[in-house]
Amino acid sequence: MLLIYFIFGTIFASFSYVVALRLPLKQDFVKSRSQCDYCYHSLNWYDLVPIISYLMLRGKCRYCHHEISITHFLMELFGGLCLVTCHLYARNGLVTLGLFALITTMMIIALIDQDYMLIPDSLIIVTTLLCLYLFVVERKNVVEQLNALLIPLMLYLMTLIHPNSFGEGDLMLLCPLCFYLGFKDSFNLLLLSSILGCLAGIKILYEDLNHDHHLPFVPMLTIGLILTIFVL
Ligand SMILES: [Zn+2]
Repeated sequence: MLLIYFIFGTIFASFSYVVALRLPLKQDFVKSRSQCDYCYHSLNWYDLVPIISYLMLRGKCRYCHHEISITHFLMELFGGLCLVTCHLYARNGLVTLGLFALITTMMIIALIDQDYMLIPDSLIIVTTLLCLYLFVVERKNVVEQLNALLIPLMLYLMTLIHPNSFGEGDLMLLCPLCFYLGFKDSFNLLLLSSILGCLAGIKILYEDLNHDHHLPFVPMLTIGLILTIFVL
């Protein structure tokens, strides 16, 4: 049974990675057939089996032999493990589905934020709908969940004093996440993400002192969310 969850997780994550690559470029990711990003050769089903194709082809395109990013493979592996973990954690089909969809959506946003420093509005809407869905299926208390919105509100007020401390997209994304998590978990999420952000910031500064860097926050937020849900 767990193997079935793992396989579905890898398939969905593989599709999610294509979304993360194509959405910022406004390319179609639903109808157009999968093709190599380098030689544009159409890929057959046996080139698209998650994890296995990557291993069999040793991380290279079958047609032009260009190296395929290992992120694709890691994303598929992550998707499989993530769906299994969601299932073991939630033990409820509706919650499992919602949690997996939420974490995968956050992974897509994290990849886009990492490469382009932007958060597509459409994905903020998807995140909001998924958080509302989880709020309903987990039967949470609306007053308690609304309290958690104090956290993004405080961060918003902070941006009025220090305009570049938080991006607008980061704050908009935090609202539904905090609403779903509630006050205590939202506080943990922010604390973990900020610690990860500081570590990443120190690493960047250590490597390159001469440039003014902006750090994408969604990758930290995504790791923070996973730890908050499954570990804390
Ligand atoms: Zn190719």
